[in-house]
Amino acid sequence: MKSGTVETSNEPDGTGNGTAAAGPDRIEVHNPATGGLLASVDVDPPERVAEIATRLRARQAEWEAIGIEGRSEWLGRLRDWLIDNTERVLDTMQAETGKVRADAAAEPLYLADLINFYATKAASFIGEESVRPHTPLLAGKKLRVQYRPYPLVGVISPWNFPLTLALGDAIPALQAGAAVLLKPSEFTPLGVAEIVRAWKEEIGGPDVFDCVQGTGETGGALIDAADFIQFTGSDRTGRRVMARAAETLTPVSLELGGKDPMIVLDDADLDRAANAAAWGGMFNSGQVCMSVERIYVEEPAYDEFVAKLTAEVSRLRQGADGRAPAKDVGAMTSPNQTAIVEEHVSDALANGARALVGGKRVEGPGDYFEPTVLVDVDHSMKVMRDETFGPVVGVMRVGDAEEAVRLANDTRYGLSGCVFGERDRAERVARRVECGAINVNDVLVNYLAVDVPMGGWKESGIGFRHGEFGIKKYCRPESIVVTRFGGSREPSWYPYTRARRRLVSGIGRLFYARGLARRLGLRR
Ligand code: NAD
Repeated sequence: MKSGTVETSNEPDGTGNGTAAAGPDRIEVHNPATGGLLASVDVDPPERVAEIATRLRARQAEWEAIGIEGRSEWLGRLRDWLIDNTERVLDTMQAETGKVRADAAAEPLYLADLINFYATKAASFIGEESVRPHTPLLAGKKLRVQYRPYPLVGVISPWNFPLTLALGDAIPALQAGAAVLLKPSEFTPLGVAEIVRAWKEEIGGPDVFDCVQGTGETGGALIDAADFIQFTGSDRTGRRVMARAAETLTPVSLELGGKDPMIVLDDADLDRAANAAAWGGMFNSGQVCMSVERIYVEEPAYDEFVAKLTAEVSRLRQGADGRAPAKDVGAMTSPNQTAIVEEHVSDALANGARALVGGKRVEGPGDYFEPTVLVDVDHSMKVMRDETFGPVVGVMRVGDAEEAVRLANDTRYGLSGCVFGERDRAERVARRVECGAINVNDVLVNYLAVDVPMGGWKESGIGFRHGEFGIKKYCRPESIVVTRFGGSREPSWYPYTRARRRLVSGIGRLFYARGLARRLGLRR
């Protein structure tokens, strides 16, 4: 079978073990909401990855040559296809992730917005720059910077937002003029494959965009073949990606895990804060890199906040959802992740925490973990230190905002966070949290503000997506210095003579020294 194509299963949903079984040649994709087998996909071996990379690279120059407007037109057709086929795309993605409909629904719209954003902004972000020389000595030079794309960008993506985190990084790379080869997660290969197929067969897009399927071996081959790697995934894999890329000196941008804090000040609107904590912690079953994972509440607000949060989380409906949203919280997409969530919660409970809601895995079919609120937690517990990536929040009582900030920053991660409280005070507190993005009186919303950078500090990553950063990183600046006029030789060229040396250093002093005596060479 060709790369990017899949065989779908006629088996009814409701059987199987919910794993993406990865043999050496084929991947079996299951529906985590039911456990049923969905499809099996051919794995692309390293030789095939190299072959596709060569093919795409050969077409990249033409893609670059059609310019920002030409590329915007093609990407606009992709946007239209996504909008026209949203229900179909959501069906596939919902099946392979086990998401509820409402959680899946945001992805095609986000991608459409991103295409529009970069179509409008690309010229100002990566268009040619004209630069005024900083010194009169270069007044005769014309200075320009042009931004040329890396020929082939490899995008390696995870399973939690299979379209957003693959196409969301491919779109600015394509808009920059690069060819793009995607490798989606082995747990969720189907949605990306469907869109790449549409690009080729329905949209008739240029042959600069493709995908390969497989696990770490395929990902490794992509690192070897690409000129730039955009990786989203765990910090553990991110380290391996960076080490492999070092062998070929391939630049990387890494979007890794998080342990995002929420701070609730005593002057917060506690209804809004509690509802935000419930949604920010349980959205996509907590399988969100920017998910609310730890909550610090100022003492006077603690009891009321916890009561409101517990009530909100208790009301959530969990299970397999259909096209019409009838559930709030879906399945765990990867069984490996369910095991981690279970381990974190067990560790907390064994060390004195209490589960006010939830606290355990749900019996099958399907792979679910109950929406869980833990209290009496502290930083000795895994659930407050390591990325849980499940529908679990830990809530701690703090004496004041100082303690909240200290605890929020007591982590090896630094992806994002949020602060709830009176606006000015909350903003002052927010500015002290060490992370790539912070929301005041909202959660997760910075991801939709594609105008500003999104990325991690500390072990949450290297590099940023969105805004100017999100497209410029796919380009290499090329400085062009044009001499407008000049004689047969410059004063600094050969031959070196005493008179020419005095002239050059005299002119240099005149412009670069400070103070009249130094400029005129009267002071040595
Ligand atoms: P993962 O690291 O297990 O896998 C990510 C991708 O890397 C997959 O496509 C996988 O096949 C591939 N891969 C695995 N080994 C590889 C290797 N040796 N070389 C090259 N590629 C390899 O991550 P996951 O479990 O799919 O996703 C969950 C993680 O992603 C969480 O830690 C989450 O926080 C993180 N994440 C981060 C962001 C962000 O923007 N910062 C967004 C979403 C998810």
